[in-house]
Amino acid sequence: MSREQELAENLRVVRERIQAACVAAGRSEDAVTLVAITKTFPISDVRALAALGVRDLGENREQELKVKAPDCQDVTWHFVGQLQSNKARSVVRNASVVHSVDRSSLVKALSHAAVEEGRVLRCLLQVSLAAFGPAEAATGRSRGGVEPDDVPALAAEVAAADGLELGGVMAVAPLGSDADEAFGGLENVASRLRSEHPGADWISAGMSADLDAAIRRGATHVRLGRALLGTRTPLG
Ligand SMILES: *Cc1c(COP(=O)(O)O)cnc(C)c1O
Repeated sequence: MSREQELAENLRVVRERIQAACVAAGRSEDAVTLVAITKTFPISDVRALAALGVRDLGENREQELKVKAPDCQDVTWHFVGQLQSNKARSVVRNASVVHSVDRSSLVKALSHAAVEEGRVLRCLLQVSLAAFGPAEAATGRSRGGVEPDDVPALAAEVAAADGLELGGVMAVAPLGSDADEAFGGLENVASRLRSEHPGADWISAGMSADLDAAIRRGATHVRLGRALLGTRTPLG
């Protein structure tokens, strides 16, 4: 099987899985957008996915985004990784959506860059679900994100910032957590956010391992890497 055929087959399976999860959750089949996370995979895979009709692609490192995005411009690029403020400009140039806004200093850097670049950047607040993870609760270490209680203040900053548009929330379920519980927590944060900011209606949740739970809990965007592209070789 060629790589193109393999990707086509993976995409078919993933789309069926998304559809089935939507049906099981009583949601419309087009309620969920697939964001293909192409990190560590070559630009040939990016082009192949775009040719297969994938319209949303994502990266978690600025260095990879700035190489791949200019090469494949007829899609929407998402940035989903930890972001240092000094990389804000590069990300604003190359992505339309940032899923990982988690602090005030980053809001300021993104806003400044968006204004200077003459672009509008859609921002999702990355919410910490550490409260749902046994390891995180025990060690105090989390996979990042703003604490649920701090979401309203950060949301207000994004909503007021020039060049930024508040899009909703994103989260990663903690290791060892019950994904339904963790994403249920995110769903509550999201619904409180929407009551203040009706346009902020995206919920970016669910990766290859937990997309079904995420869709049950209202995800509008699932971020899939391995299920589409296969096993990653770790970057250094
Ligand atoms: C890598 C990554 C994904 C995709 O994970 P898979 O397990 O490969 O589906 C989703 N979200 C973020 C933030 C990632 O870094």
